Amino acid sequence: MYAQRVLSGMRPTGSLHLGHYHGVLKNWVRLQNEYPCLFFVADWHALTTQYDDPQGIVGATWEMIIDWLAAGVDPARATLFIQSQVPEHAELHLLLSMMTPLGWLERVPTYKDQQEKLENKDLSTYGFLGYPLLQAADILIYRADKVPVGEDQVPHIEFSREIARRFNHLYGREAGFAEKVAEALNRLGARRARRYEELRTRYQEQGEPSAIERAQALLDEVPALSLADRERLRGHLEGTGKMILVEPAALLTAAARMPGVDGQKMSKSYGNTITLREDAASVTHKLRRMPTDPARIRRNDPGEPGNCPVWPLHQVYSDEACRAWVEQGCRSAGIGCLECKQPVIDAILREQAPMRERAQEYIEQPELVREIVAEGNRKARHLARETMRDVRQALGLNFG
Ligand code: SF4
Repeated sequence: MYAQRVLSGMRPTGSLHLGHYHGVLKNWVRLQNEYPCLFFVADWHALTTQYDDPQGIVGATWEMIIDWLAAGVDPARATLFIQSQVPEHAELHLLLSMMTPLGWLERVPTYKDQQEKLENKDLSTYGFLGYPLLQAADILIYRADKVPVGEDQVPHIEFSREIARRFNHLYGREAGFAEKVAEALNRLGARRARRYEELRTRYQEQGEPSAIERAQALLDEVPALSLADRERLRGHLEGTGKMILVEPAALLTAAARMPGVDGQKMSKSYGNTITLREDAASVTHKLRRMPTDPARIRRNDPGEPGNCPVWPLHQVYSDEACRAWVEQGCRSAGIGCLECKQPVIDAILREQAPMRERAQEYIEQPELVREIVAEGNRKARHLARETMRDVRQALGLNFG
């Protein structure tokens, strides 16, 4: 049994926008108060699609980390690191690639989708095909049991679970496993061992999920049981052998659809973003220029918020009273569009103010960011090495 741990990463895209803040970073800030969290820059992942243009990755990485810190990600609570600075990710990826059926990779839904979306790029590469496996290695190397994802990423987590299961099944049977299980059962005591075997039979023959939970609870009743024995009995229970890699679970995050300044989803590729630290004049200018309901040609033409791209922003930023004021004022032509936009402008500037302030310290002292990341790399590497020690041992790759 391993500690609870959250892992999440982002490709280095440079300055982040409010869509990233509402969709990901707010969630990270919440999670860092609930679990030990590891947040990383997936720079190797960037290379899977950007292999012909790697020059901007380093600069984009530092920019993005400043945005994380600006958004409230706290290095005292979470570990912030860069994937390529923990080379164990690459080693685990390589070792997992030896046992990963090609068909599993080709089946990942985003493989074909992305190839079609980025059709101007040659993505018939080994690295691109293998990126879900690199992602699985990123998760499994930290034995992270919780991965915050949106609905569309769930197949990737399921893929990582299958990889962990296959690995544990193939290599989790240490030499003398059956004898060691028998010894561990002796340590449980006759009554508990009998009960454990009954529950194991029920789980394995009838697939009763509550049986496994009860058997695990039974193991928890014996605090003197060593970690190794506990894992063996868990593996014996699930029929997977010793659990070397932990199967992660998706921590589903509600899709927060942050609208851009044209009403479509905020995205760099649509050119409709407001960056986290964009200056106030530019934010105000963009919002004041935003298109509105085309029916409101003159100030006294009534409109319909449902037909206006500003309305989704009110749904993100305004309270009920303000939204009622907009609905009434728009439909009766009681308010003008600039007047209607002002509460959104004010709310965005209010949201950004503490971010700009936090970022300033890091902009003025970039060495602080370097130190935070160096410390994060060190912590992450320590955890990764622990897993790799067990992985190498399971594969019999111990030369020391
Ligand atoms: S009043 Fe507001 S909701 Fe109505 S059209 Fe103008 S900006 Fe849009």
